[in-house]
Amino acid sequence: MYDINNLLRKNIKNLTPYSSARDEYTGEASVFLDANENAFGSPLDTAYNRYPDPMQYKVKIRLSEIKGVPARNIFVGNGSDEAIDILFRSFCNPGVDNVIICPPTYGMYQVSANINDLEARKVLLTEEYQLNLEGIAEAIDERTKLIFICSPNNPTGNSLNRDDIETLLANFNGIIVIDEAYINFSRQKTFIQELTEYANLVVMQTLSKAWGLAGLRVGMAFASEEIIEVMNKVKPPYNVNEASQQLALEALNNVQQVNGWIKETLDERDKLVLTLKELPFVTDIYPSDANFILVKTTDAKGIYNFLVQHGIIIRDRSKVELCEGCLRITIGTPQENKILLSTLQQYK
Ligand code: PMP
Repeated sequence: MYDINNLLRKNIKNLTPYSSARDEYTGEASVFLDANENAFGSPLDTAYNRYPDPMQYKVKIRLSEIKGVPARNIFVGNGSDEAIDILFRSFCNPGVDNVIICPPTYGMYQVSANINDLEARKVLLTEEYQLNLEGIAEAIDERTKLIFICSPNNPTGNSLNRDDIETLLANFNGIIVIDEAYINFSRQKTFIQELTEYANLVVMQTLSKAWGLAGLRVGMAFASEEIIEVMNKVKPPYNVNEASQQLALEALNNVQQVNGWIKETLDERDKLVLTLKELPFVTDIYPSDANFILVKTTDAKGIYNFLVQHGIIIRDRSKVELCEGCLRITIGTPQENKILLSTLQQYK
């Protein structure tokens, strides 16, 4: 049975989180002499002399409207990379607990596990890049706290079978983290609506991809109130800076522009796939539900180096498990994709 109290690290369960005087004060005030800020102002126009809202209330209210979940079920982080790290630090005892990852997948799960001195048990995806449920069941023991699932998956681009994920959610006593960084490009539905069904579910999303705000570093986790409370306790007090909060809020009011870019990205992806398929050194292109494609080639390193010489950077994934010979290519603007294709056509 899933029970958050059995999962939490003891030191976190008993933790008194950092609290500023301003958090405790709920009335109206106009003189703030509590946080050792510069009371005179900042060299900039905006009131950056003040610390940002530690709970990012306005951003969460807007996210709540867009995503259809209450603000109390939302965590906002300095990128979703921060959410990954906070989940490890909340639930996994260093040197003792383990987590499960399903390579080929996003590299940060392994790195973050290493930083936190945690064993990341690898259960490879199947040849079809789907979850190996039997392998996962075998890898789980009483010290397994988290399972990371990336869907659509980076670097393969495909979405993972929904029934498989639900099977895990229903049977695993720990927490299932579904990383939906690329969900806006996907034909699949988000798992956010399943939060009421599964107490052990964390869904991560980000403003770094479809929303076009990788530079702001804003990522989200959606989960039960209990899990969000823990993450809020563990996070640094002012983890999302004032500029990022203001700009994220402004951007979140511009859904239409983002939807236009998503559509254009998908159109460009289809066109790129058709042309790439014609190239003699391309042996396979995997179906993508994301804003990138995984392309199998006869000479990944040679093609990668050739493109670098022409000022084009893609990602060589040929050394990654189950990705032999593969390159990962992000979908660019029509102009960028044209440059990529005309350069590739010169490759021999
Ligand atoms: N998850 C996946 C699957 C990603 O590919 C990335 C970025 N490459 C992230 C999370 C990190 O996102 P963020 O910029 O929000 O930290």
